[in-house]
Amino acid sequence: HEIRTPLNGIIGMTSLLLDTKLTRQQQHHAEVIRESGESLLWLINDILDFSKIEAGKLEIECIDFDLHSLIDDFSMVLAVKAQEKNLEFVCAADPDTPALLRGDPGRLRQILTNLAGNAIKFTHQGEVVVKVSLLEENEEGALLHFSVKDTGIGIPAEKQRLLFQSFTQVDPSTTRKYGGTGLGLAITKQLVELMHGRIGMWSEEGKGSEFWFEVRLPVRREVAHTVAPSVDLRGVRALVVDDNATNREMLCAQLSAIGIIPDEAPDGMVALEMLKTAYEAGKAYNLAVLDMLMPGLDGESLGIEIHNNERLKDTALVMMTSIGRRGDARRLEELGFAAYLTKPVRQSD
Ligand code: ADP
Repeated sequence: HEIRTPLNGIIGMTSLLLDTKLTRQQQHHAEVIRESGESLLWLINDILDFSKIEAGKLEIECIDFDLHSLIDDFSMVLAVKAQEKNLEFVCAADPDTPALLRGDPGRLRQILTNLAGNAIKFTHQGEVVVKVSLLEENEEGALLHFSVKDTGIGIPAEKQRLLFQSFTQVDPSTTRKYGGTGLGLAITKQLVELMHGRIGMWSEEGKGSEFWFEVRLPVRREVAHTVAPSVDLRGVRALVVDDNATNREMLCAQLSAIGIIPDEAPDGMVALEMLKTAYEAGKAYNLAVLDMLMPGLDGESLGIEIHNNERLKDTALVMMTSIGRRGDARRLEELGFAAYLTKPVRQSD
């Protein structure tokens, strides 16, 4: 408390200062103060967590929470960071994972944020995929597997076993280049163990890493308020068009969960062929979900092709865009799109 209060004062006052009229140089100085203050606060929070754990004072809560909304909320925050680095970010719970659980949602979120934060930090191109799946269920609860996988710089084999120890970073230059304290994974491991779970990882240098953990959480036996669509979508045929295979797989699973029959196409040309073939066969797709950014024919051009094609024009079009692009909605509507979704697409969307 004694450390945090003055630090919050520094950060808060600097933010107020930044809202006043400053010269460019003053603005820059004030921004550096705020950023440094935030790094220091982050560090202090880590150290406090860590010493609490070491002193055996950290308690894991057991309260009712909804796993699916936790994943949805968490993914919105991380998506912004991934977007800034132009990374594909996919995040979803398998539709068969129970939503109504008991446990410590705050700490679960902290674990996921640590792992996904690292994945984004150490990945310069490609994707970060967060997945939750159900391994098994018994009277004690559901055994859940969480995985965070990236296509980043990876971790050399000889360094991997040191990872979960405190204050270790793979390379002494890490702090300079990426920041961080080397405490994140140590805390994460302790938190997972306090939940009686296990944690592990594999990685290949230059290819990427996957961190996973498993915890068993009690399932609440109440009637789940599933986000049932207000119309019956069972039997609707949909084509998912995205160049990213993981994204296609996730979206197809989400569509299947509400009764839609999905197919997938990796690019615009294949999609057009599939749409035409299905039409000829008398099994036209009712719906096409298109990714905006694709090599070759992008989502927008593909949408126009479909919309202007006499045989395909009845296909309802949904665009998937990355967040942070305002003003698209109107243009897309004019082009004939029925709706658009921002990635990562959540089951509730
Ligand atoms: P911090 O990120 O604060 O340095 P962590 O304990 O979270 O501390 O991570 C320790 C080190 O493990 C990092 O500095 C980095 O070298 C390595 N690391 C963690 N996650 C990844 C990842 N997804 N890809 C590559 N290296 C990673």
